Amino acid sequence: ERFDEIDLGEGLMQNIRRCKYSKPTPVQKHAIPIAVAGRDLMACAQTGSGKTAAFCFPIISTILKNGLNSGPGGTRTVAQPSALILSPTRELSCQIHEEAKKFAFKTGVRIVVAYGGASIQQQLYNLEKGVDILVATPGRLADMIDRGRVSLKMIKHLALDEADRMLDMGFEPQIRKIVQQMGMPPPGQRQTMLFSATFPDEIQRLASDFLKDYIFLSV
Ligand code: AMP
Repeated sequence: ERFDEIDLGEGLMQNIRRCKYSKPTPVQKHAIPIAVAGRDLMACAQTGSGKTAAFCFPIISTILKNGLNSGPGGTRTVAQPSALILSPTRELSCQIHEEAKKFAFKTGVRIVVAYGGASIQQQLYNLEKGVDILVATPGRLADMIDRGRVSLKMIKHLALDEADRMLDMGFEPQIRKIVQQMGMPPPGQRQTMLFSATFPDEIQRLASDFLKDYIFLSV
């Protein structure tokens, strides 16, 4: 019933206290230990359930345990994030980005957001400076991949937020292309977390295509 019962690391714990999250919401209570253990999961979670922290805490905690992968931008022109959070809209991506920055405050974990309907240049510049976690909408990310500016070969954590909405918006081809770009990792090398408010057949299909030995959570 408490965040400090899970080994999230001191830097992240300080930020959780700073956010005044005194106890985990139901989805956090169940999803975080599973995700910290490296398992894939599919969770039924509505807006307002605290799902952002449910996928951000394990990602940030694991990145801090394994060491930040990206040094300063330097000569690297192809960004190689180690975690990717896909979300359907600019608003949701920005919201996740703002929350994730609070969770990663002073830890050194770098989070960049990319969405359509705005200039790509500033977003590419932000990526060049180095990125650990990329929060993106599928269309804009597919564009960046086509331009050769983002590589997903180093992705260790993939979170799909509001997956049902992404499919409703017609993003399935982009999502499949993005996941394909990551390649086939050896088992246990990449973790996938799928969050959705509803579970129609298309979501079940996505889950069986993308998730390995996953745990299903309905809270
Ligand atoms: P979300 O469902 O991720 O959009 O979160 C909904 C709201 O609940 C956000 O404003 C979060 O900052 C807040 N929140 C998430 N988890 C907790 C928690 N454990 N304790 C208090 N507030 C929380």
